[in-house]
Amino acid sequence: MIATQFIPLGRMSNYDLHTHSNISDGLLPPAELVERAAAAGVSTLALTDHDDVAGLPQARETAERLGIDLVNGVEISVTWRKRTIHIVGLRIDPLHEPLVQGLSAIRQGRALRARRMADSLAQAGIAGALEGAYRYADNPEIIGRTHFARFLVHMGYAKDVRTVFRHYLVGGKPGYVPHEWAALADAVQWIVAAGGIAVLAHPGRYDLGRQLLPELIGEFKEAGGQAIEVVTGSHTPDQYNLFARYAQEFDLLASRGSDFHGPGESYVEPGALPPLPASVRPVWHDWG
Ligand code: AMP
Ligand code: MN
Ligand code: MN
Ligand code: MN
Repeated sequence: MIATQFIPLGRMSNYDLHTHSNISDGLLPPAELVERAAAAGVSTLALTDHDDVAGLPQARETAERLGIDLVNGVEISVTWRKRTIHIVGLRIDPLHEPLVQGLSAIRQGRALRARRMADSLAQAGIAGALEGAYRYADNPEIIGRTHFARFLVHMGYAKDVRTVFRHYLVGGKPGYVPHEWAALADAVQWIVAAGGIAVLAHPGRYDLGRQLLPELIGEFKEAGGQAIEVVTGSHTPDQYNLFARYAQEFDLLASRGSDFHGPGESYVEPGALPPLPASVRPVWHDWG
């Protein structure tokens, strides 16, 4: 029998289903992100910018040229019980109207929040933050905390973006303002109605504890969610196993994604993650 030894190494599957371009708070334009992922050996890449799908056409053009599979994605900001949760949508129709409208409303909220964030920083003695942050937002519609963080680094308030988030822009610190994002069930429904798969992003990042976590996963599933990130750049190896168990318990598919934001700002390069544990069913199990 002639078998697997003839599959060239370069064609092995490597799914990275969570990445950002400068359409949201990533550093690279979509085309450069796709080039970097292809060079790193990613075979299937999802571009999942925060609350916007505007990078997909450019990403697709490059993906087709380089022969890598591109998944239309998005990462939607949600408020659930006063906490911010992220829901990734995979294989969405980016032109589906309820999704387009929903994302547009979130982006309007970002502009208003940015002004309040700048006011909060001004009260702490940091002037000019609104204009400063917008200078780092290649797509002004997705102004967010990362752009404020880059401005604060530039001004010398911290040595890097990661450090900024210890002293600013998080609960109780200057620059943090509470904000109401989309409702969980709405975001899931926009994704599902757009033909996509809703994925609970980096569940280990929310600090929810053993009580609330199952409640979130249960409500997510109830709303039509189908998958959960198990192996992500935001999880420790212990969390890979923990969330593999949640995937089994809640009968959810498992996803894998780096959450790459750019060279220098992300620990994990595109595709540079362990495989999913054998106990889970990959979200791509039935993709052609
Ligand atoms: P926003 O959606 O505007 O609230 O910004 C959230 C983004 O900020 C996340 O997607 C990350 O890219 C970034 N972020 C949040 N917390 C941290 C952190 N502790 N270190 C580095 N980046 C962070
Ligand atoms: Mn981000
Ligand atoms: Mn996220
Ligand atoms: Mn992300």
